[in-house]
Amino acid sequence: QPEPLALHILFFPYIAPGHLIPAADMAALFASRGVKCTILTTPVNAAVIRSAVDRANDAAAATRGPAGGGALAIQISTVPFPDVGLPPGVESATGISPGTDDVDRLMEAHRLLREPFGRFLADHRPDAVVADSFYEWAADAAAEHGVPRLTFLGASLFARACVDSLLRHNPFELAPDDDDDPDAVASLPALPHRVEFRRGQVMDPRKNRLEWEHHQAVNAADQRSYGEVFNSFADLEPDYVDHYRTTLGRRVWLVGPLAYHAGSRMAPGAPDAETCLRWLDEKPGGSVVYVSFGTLSRLAAAELRELARGLQLSGKNFVWVLRGGASSGSEEEEEEDASPWMPGGFAELIAVGGRGLVLRSWAPQRLILNHSAVGGFLTHCGWNSVLEAVGAGVPLVTWPRHADQFCNEKLVVEVHGIGVGVGAGDYDSNILDKRREVIGGEKIAEAIGRVMGDGEEAGAIRRKAKELGGKARSAAEEGGSSYEDVGNLISELMSRRRSVGA
Ligand code: UDP
Repeated sequence: QPEPLALHILFFPYIAPGHLIPAADMAALFASRGVKCTILTTPVNAAVIRSAVDRANDAAAATRGPAGGGALAIQISTVPFPDVGLPPGVESATGISPGTDDVDRLMEAHRLLREPFGRFLADHRPDAVVADSFYEWAADAAAEHGVPRLTFLGASLFARACVDSLLRHNPFELAPDDDDDPDAVASLPALPHRVEFRRGQVMDPRKNRLEWEHHQAVNAADQRSYGEVFNSFADLEPDYVDHYRTTLGRRVWLVGPLAYHAGSRMAPGAPDAETCLRWLDEKPGGSVVYVSFGTLSRLAAAELRELARGLQLSGKNFVWVLRGGASSGSEEEEEEDASPWMPGGFAELIAVGGRGLVLRSWAPQRLILNHSAVGGFLTHCGWNSVLEAVGAGVPLVTWPRHADQFCNEKLVVEVHGIGVGVGAGDYDSNILDKRREVIGGEKIAEAIGRVMGDGEEAGAIRRKAKELGGKARSAAEEGGSSYEDVGNLISELMSRRRSVGA
């Protein structure tokens, strides 16, 4: 019997690092299972992905040994970033700050990607497309060409279920209508557990109509999809997997944690990786807190100052990723000069050989989290960061800023008990207004202490984080639940191809 042609899957991620990185991981993962993968993106982002793919190929070659086959079958195709009169640089989402007038034009540019996307489908006829959930128009474009469209949101099923509940039931209409009470609590209906958010921790239609409408469109498009792919694993949120499949009747495949698949050991290059790892090598096990707010969040000067004070007060060693400087307000202009916020004595802590290392460039996050010197991760709870920490068995200090980050905090702190929050609230207020309360250094230091200290609570948190880390890695290994789900999706798409071709 002739060898069947390899399945071809197209990945079409949104152009922000937090979306591009897992898409590149997924491509490497499926390619390592014999699928031909193409990633469609714009030229600037293609360069980022290409270096990640090169590293995946190196890792794959090293695993296979000298006799073991060629490079992973991953192609990168580019479409020009639509010209809508935006300045150069916005092609990568880190180049633009939400809240500026450019957002409408940026959305317009994204909508214009529909045409080249459709052309790619017509010319190459992939067996399936995994399109970013943000590109809700991809559902119709794929349907026009008879290509099954899977969505990838890059969030947890829990966060997705919370948004689904919000959109269906809008508890803000049911909650006491007291705008002035920041502690008013909204309970989200129709979920497997009682889930409560403080006002200001989830999207509120009265505060952000645009985002609400966008989510409705995304939700509707996801329901028309062939199914949804999640960077998650069964043991992380079993009740929500069941809720999704049984109650909501949706088709989902869990393929995570993406950073821990044998076929997807890759990360974007980090110029200071060697220095950073050497610095960590000299620190005692579990003594360092790693601090990063991902690729999009920026802290205001007052927040930076308190964070620096918190690190001082904690007495722990730290690696702090601080690209750019303080955000100076809604325009998010960045102030490189640290003097307005740096507290007295801080410079001494970060002097050579001292207690802290401040990284001003792209950090080798996955390597840092998996270094034995790291005992905690102060994070904005971006979903990729959470999963990378979970897989590394590192407990978290949570400081969510916006979007699904508050949901992720809940999963970490309340469901799994592998972290402690600093007490953040006020969803998106950095964008909409500047009411966000500045969290004091004492609170930050306290949360770090509760996670990394010697007490019973810290011990229990560390034990649970290690346990969950073991489960995360097992899920990704051969025979694990995510490994099986990847296989299931591949087989299903193969039989679909046979039945369509017949
Ligand atoms: N990341 C990194 N180095 C950095 C900053 C970020 O490697 O200096 C990676 C991080 O490991 C993660 C991604 O970028 O994979 C950020 O995604 P996340 O969902 O955590 O946050 P976002 O940036 O989307 O808010």
